[in-house]
Amino acid sequence: MNALNQPVGILTGIGSQTANRLQKLGLYTLQDLLFHLPLRYEDRTRAYAIGSLKPGMTALISGKIEFIDVLDKGRKSLICRISDGTGFINLRFFHFSANQHNTLKPGTAISCFAEARYGFAGLEMIHPEYKIIADASDCITQSRLTPVYPLTEGLNQNVVRKAVAQALDLCQQAPELLTDWIPEPVLTHYHYPSLSDAIQTLHAPDESVSIEALQNGSVPALKRLAFEELLAHYLSLRTTRHKAKAWQAPSFFAGQAGKIATEHFLNALPFQLTGAQQRVIADIEADCLSQQPMMRLVQGDVGSGKTVVSAYAALLALTAGYQVAVMAPTELLAEQHKRNFSAWFDGFDTQVLYLTGQVKGNARKDVLQALEDGSAGIIIGTHALFQDAVNFHRLGLIIIDEQHRFGVHQRLALREKGQQNDSRPHQLVMTATPIPRTLAMLQYSDLDISIIDELPPGRKPIVTSVIPAERRDAVIERISGWVDKKKQVYWVCTLIEESEVLQCEAAEKTAARLTEALPNVRIALIHGRMKSSEKDAVMQDFKNHRIDLLVATTVIEVGVDVPNAGLMIIENPERLGLSQLHQLRGRVGRGSDDSYCLLMYQAPLSDTARHRLGVLRDSNDGFVIAEKDLELRGPGEVMGTRQTGQMHFKIADLTRDADVLAAVQKIGDRFFIQSPQSVQPLCDRWLNATTEYSEV
Ligand code: ADP
Ligand code: MG
Repeated sequence: MNALNQPVGILTGIGSQTANRLQKLGLYTLQDLLFHLPLRYEDRTRAYAIGSLKPGMTALISGKIEFIDVLDKGRKSLICRISDGTGFINLRFFHFSANQHNTLKPGTAISCFAEARYGFAGLEMIHPEYKIIADASDCITQSRLTPVYPLTEGLNQNVVRKAVAQALDLCQQAPELLTDWIPEPVLTHYHYPSLSDAIQTLHAPDESVSIEALQNGSVPALKRLAFEELLAHYLSLRTTRHKAKAWQAPSFFAGQAGKIATEHFLNALPFQLTGAQQRVIADIEADCLSQQPMMRLVQGDVGSGKTVVSAYAALLALTAGYQVAVMAPTELLAEQHKRNFSAWFDGFDTQVLYLTGQVKGNARKDVLQALEDGSAGIIIGTHALFQDAVNFHRLGLIIIDEQHRFGVHQRLALREKGQQNDSRPHQLVMTATPIPRTLAMLQYSDLDISIIDELPPGRKPIVTSVIPAERRDAVIERISGWVDKKKQVYWVCTLIEESEVLQCEAAEKTAARLTEALPNVRIALIHGRMKSSEKDAVMQDFKNHRIDLLVATTVIEVGVDVPNAGLMIIENPERLGLSQLHQLRGRVGRGSDDSYCLLMYQAPLSDTARHRLGVLRDSNDGFVIAEKDLELRGPGEVMGTRQTGQMHFKIADLTRDADVLAAVQKIGDRFFIQSPQSVQPLCDRWLNATTEYSEV
């Protein structure tokens, strides 16, 4: 066994209790300790003149005690003033012992380490770390920066520091224990240090390393580890892809009958497919004719027409005698797909059925029966589709809409449902969330990507304006004029809190106020706390123009399609991310008339917020917006927890380390050919067993 795989308990000073606490931090072995990096560093390598201290500096100082006193006013504290000839500072202790009071005698030399802050009489240090020393000018400095580690209850810095130091020692004596899986030429090319040097530097940086570079994460040692970790994730996703491709899949070849069916389908559409749609369809067709499972992501801006592309894929499956499951993130969207698919497949000899959590009792039984005996060719629904009771007769294709709303495992669960012997269904996932290329390559490296980069013709760009909330009356006026022209309006309420209750209340209030201000306008409200049957009823009414103004929370974000609604007001847009705003805005601009989006902000607006809303005003292109959002906010936020799926990193930080992504892809792609033997060990090192996509 590699000595680094020994449990932390074998180290001096680590009893079973401490070992348990370390485990809470995920530290089981010596190797875990090596990869447990400091949060930050303290600099005890030099002593500062007291006169040079500024508030906020954490520094080592030394001096002579001038006086000591106990203050009774306010919170009782022990004050001890020290000076070094360049200035003085007060040490302040709220908890102190009689012994402390006795040792801190005037005239005694002392060295202290803490953050200097403004206090009641000039600078002070609260509860500094201190040592009595022989001579005030003889402050004991350290040769290296002191690491400060993440802790958990019951652990202190010293315990972790000593444990890590022992692991480092072992590693220095036997560097071969820590295998460097990154080939030498790669290290040289990117100026990365070796693994053991990197680890040594990060735990015990010497004078040559700048503390700023350490704190802001730009030191090569850290970059190298971030690179390695991201590489491991990339390799793991690519491995998943290779393994998935090794399965069999049904070939959707249907000969002449298939040809007739697709022609019939295309001729019946009320429009011509765009060039981009045709290109993506060709990608899909090629995938589905091969006998490997398709794993394709279709990225396309809101309104680019992804649904009909997926319907075409469904058609291929049907004509070859297979079933299709279409999964949407909300009932509203599932319902809309149900309507579209039912219309498109009207002349075809199959049933389009619908299954969500709301379908109960006998209706549910009937649906399950039809899926099992194969009489239903297409099933559309929410995540209810992958529950245990659902069994397919011959599932050949899975379509997942707005995939970023689903976890990776939900996607996989459905795939397993259709598994038969060594064959798995094809999978088509769709997203309207444009992700900058660099990030897409990491997040979606288990998928092939097709992009619909063209909107259906005749769409006019949405005219977006940014206006302050004080102009609410003018906005209400505008709604009135708009409704007079027999057109419809969305009014979207946002709230900073993630609380749905508050968001709904706000929407209720807004609806009430608008009803008062616009007595002749038919107003309805839709929010996330309504039953889905109620939501559907409202949506249906809006679609059929029995409602003029729909007040909504962000539940309408995804997919809803009402071409006659060409005006949208978004309240407090400054609270949402650009991509989310762009998606919301995509609810309008679906018809051939001019459409408008008013971003009604609450003044005052910060410079960044102003800038961000300006981006949205000036562009209608989701990819441009995503790139700008990336620049302004960084990848971590652009991808958000919702969009990162389940990617957790130990060391890498997508915001800080975006600059290594290009290298990750480049090296990653070569890795399978040049260092295949290193793929598994690298993945083992960085991805723990709970990482969802590792075991697929
Ligand atoms: P999204 O990509 O956002 O899911 P949809 O599939 O909902 O977009 O399509 C938006 C609207 O555009 C729908 O009403 C759809 O019928 C229509 N559409 C799709 N493709 C075309 C096309 N090639 N020409 C005209 N309209 C189209
Ligand atoms: Mg859609």
